[in-house]
Formats: sequence, C-alpha cells, structure tokens
Amino acid sequence: MDSQGEYVLRTVEERGIRFVQLWFTDVLGTPKTFSITPAELENALEEGMTFDGSAIDGFSRVQESDVLARPDATTFQLLPWHGTGGREPDGAPVARVFCDIFDLDGTPFQGCPRHVLRRTLGRARDAGLTFFAAPEIEFFYFEDSDASRPPRGLDSGSYFELTAADRASTIRQQTVLTLEEMGIPVEHAQHEDAPSQHEIDLRYTDALTMADTVMTVRQVVKELARQQGVHASFMPKPLAGVQGSGMHTHLSLFRGEENAFVEPGAPHGLSELARQFIAGLLHHAGEITAITNQWVNSYKRLVAGYEAPVHVSWAHNNRSALVRVPVVKASKPESTRIEYRAPDSACNPYLAFAVILAAGLEGITKGYDLPGEARANLFDLTPEDLAAEGIVHLPASLDEALSAMSRSELVATTLGDHVFEWFLRNKRAEWSAYTSQVTPFELDRYLPLL
Ligand code: GLU
Ligand code: MG
Repeated sequence: MDSQGEYVLRTVEERGIRFVQLWFTDVLGTPKTFSITPAELENALEEGMTFDGSAIDGFSRVQESDVLARPDATTFQLLPWHGTGGREPDGAPVARVFCDIFDLDGTPFQGCPRHVLRRTLGRARDAGLTFFAAPEIEFFYFEDSDASRPPRGLDSGSYFELTAADRASTIRQQTVLTLEEMGIPVEHAQHEDAPSQHEIDLRYTDALTMADTVMTVRQVVKELARQQGVHASFMPKPLAGVQGSGMHTHLSLFRGEENAFVEPGAPHGLSELARQFIAGLLHHAGEITAITNQWVNSYKRLVAGYEAPVHVSWAHNNRSALVRVPVVKASKPESTRIEYRAPDSACNPYLAFAVILAAGLEGITKGYDLPGEARANLFDLTPEDLAAEGIVHLPASLDEALSAMSRSELVATTLGDHVFEWFLRNKRAEWSAYTSQVTPFELDRYLPLL
C-alpha cells in the first residue's frame, strides 16, 4: 500500500466514514458510482473492485463484461454536503474517490474516458510538456426540470448583476464555498448574461485533475440546487433567444516550471510552440467538435449573434473567435494562455481535453503555420468576406460534426477504436431520432399555411 492509500484508510477510520463512493464516467460523461464499505476499501485500493461493465452504456460487450474499478487514491475526498449521497441519515460522512477502469488482466480498459485522457497526456509528457486547463463553467438555475413547458428561471439578472440576496445567487455562493471546502479553487463566480444563468471559473490545474474537478463541480452544483428545491442545468441552449451555456477553457503547456506558451517581446507574448498549438486547434477544430459539443442541442448554442463561436478563427480580445488570446498583465507573463471557446458545459471533460490536446500537439509536431488573426467581429462579415479571408464554419449540426469526426485519423487515434466507434454509433442514433421529430417550429410555421 502506498502512502496515499494509507492516508485514505486512516482518514476513513478517523472520520467514521461508513461508505466510500467509487466514481467514474461513461463515454458521454455521465457520472457513475457504486459504494463500498470500509471493510472492502483496502482490497479495493490494492486490487480494484470487479463490476459488470456491460451494465454501463459504451463500456464492455456482454461476452467480456467484467471490468475492474481501481481507485485513484490521490482523488479521495469527503463529500461535504448533507442529505442524499453526502451523509448517512445518522450523520456519518460519505467520501468519494475517482477510479480508473481496467480489464481483468490488468490492462487499461479501452472504454474508460479517464484512460483516454491519461494516454493523451502521456504523449505530451513524452515531449516534456504538462497540459493545464481552466474552464469557465456556465449553467442555468430553473424552478424544476418539467419538460412539458418552457423552463422557468429564478431571476431576471444579467452580466455581473449584483442582486440583493436572490435565491439563485445565494445558491451559487453556497456552491462556491462548498467547492472551496473540497479543495477546489474557484477563480471567480458571477451572474452570466442570460436570466438565471450563472458561471463558475476554476483556477488552472493539470488537465486530469481538472476533468475530475469538472465532474465534481457539476455534481455539487446540481446537488446544492436540489437541496433548495431548484434544478441546475448544464444543457447547452435551454432557452431560445438568450445565450447558451459554454465551457470556454483556458489552456497552457508547461515545461517543468516554465510556461512554454510565453515568449517576451513576441506578438501577444506567444511562443512559436503556442502559435503551432493554436494552428493545430484551428486545423482540427471541425473534427473534434462532436466531442466538445456532443448533443443535438449543442448546435443551437453555436449560432451567430451570441458569444459562442461559429467560425474557425483566432484573435486576441474578440469574443466571436474560436480561439481567443487573452491579454495578460505585464507583471504576469507566466499566466499567458489561450482560450478555446467551443466546448459546452455538457461535454465529457476527459474526452474533450484529450482531443483538444491532441489537436494542439499535432500542430506542434507537424509545425503548422498560424493563419492571420481575425480582425473584425466575424458575425458582421458576409459569406464572401469570410471566404476571402479563408475562414470556415464550425460544424453547424451534430450531423456535420459526426461526419467530420468520422473522417478524422486524429480523433480515431486519440479516442481509440472502442470509444470512437461506440460514440459515432450512439450519436448517429441520437441524430436520427431527432430528425424524425416534427417540432413546434414546423407546426407553428407550416400548419396554418400549407
Ligand atoms: N454564454 C456564452 C457562450 O455560450 C459565452 C459568454 C461569455 O463570453 O462568457 O459561449
Ligand atoms: Mg461566460
């Protein structure tokens, strides 16, 4: 047993923890869990716990169904909230730990998203690089999740609204305090542009820790809302006519203690490596969009006129661009980073960070040239202007995104055959279910007329 494992066993005993939840995610980023008692924990830490993987969508096939969940002891954490899942009825605390999934022969299980990210981070590490991510997670609070009528928000605030203790802001503040209690540093939290839309920005960490953190944050946001009788939603575009919920992610590569994106005196302070990374992201953006924006509804957010990207382009301080290079304080060159604005809050963060990194690394390996910066607000340009500047569209629908992904060597290699093929199959079925619907839009528009 390593020292981290011993720490977990000691804490469980000292704190009187009765259950430890083993957390992992399926291919679509849905959180999954099963609980074990402290009596099982030592064995779980040393050998892993077997479970029937075929019960989880996208995991094993029926004929080879058993897999092994091995806790990553470094992620052990007490769940700080009271109520379902956080504490037993008599007040005993509950803890959780993230797991890596293995086949019974001890090889990493190919359907495990955490493994997909680990493998891609390994490629960066082989080049001496560590990948850091800092997402801005946007979401809505609604009265309930009743889908039979339009969702009703809790407030009518807007950007950075400073409201007198309204319900939504109070829940958001409690959420931030709970995250801090769990050791998750929040850079800031604010009311977002749309009514009842909120945002929590996380301080950067390595991408594996951050993917776990995104899973935890979604869980905490939902749980604390639920305790107040409210529904928190990460749906990318729950309301037509107002902003959707994105997960813009700030990215950087470090070599040891040094930020490898920094070059003092260069345009925007960006190193050649950073420029190639952006070029890789732009070059492969269409191919990775199905992963960063994985739902039919994701493409209702990626439309012109809001602050979500529609075109493949980069710029500093232009919020219509796909990649933004934020201006950093002169005294803080080490915070040089780029912001990828396509992902939404309902992506699988493990897979999203993996394909984003793979695209950037491809730019570095192949030495891609960075195209010119977009100067105008891209939404003001005509299709002819865009064509003249060589600016292409991001996929406009899940269908387009899946076509681009299905042709991508880069995405196939990054995800591995198992996840790549399962994802395409599952998402094509979603698209086909969607296209066979007759929507309220069509009835409103056509029934009186046709
Ligand atoms: N909600 C916008 C989006 O869907 C982003 C707003 C912002 O710039 O923070 O990407
Ligand atoms: Mg925002």
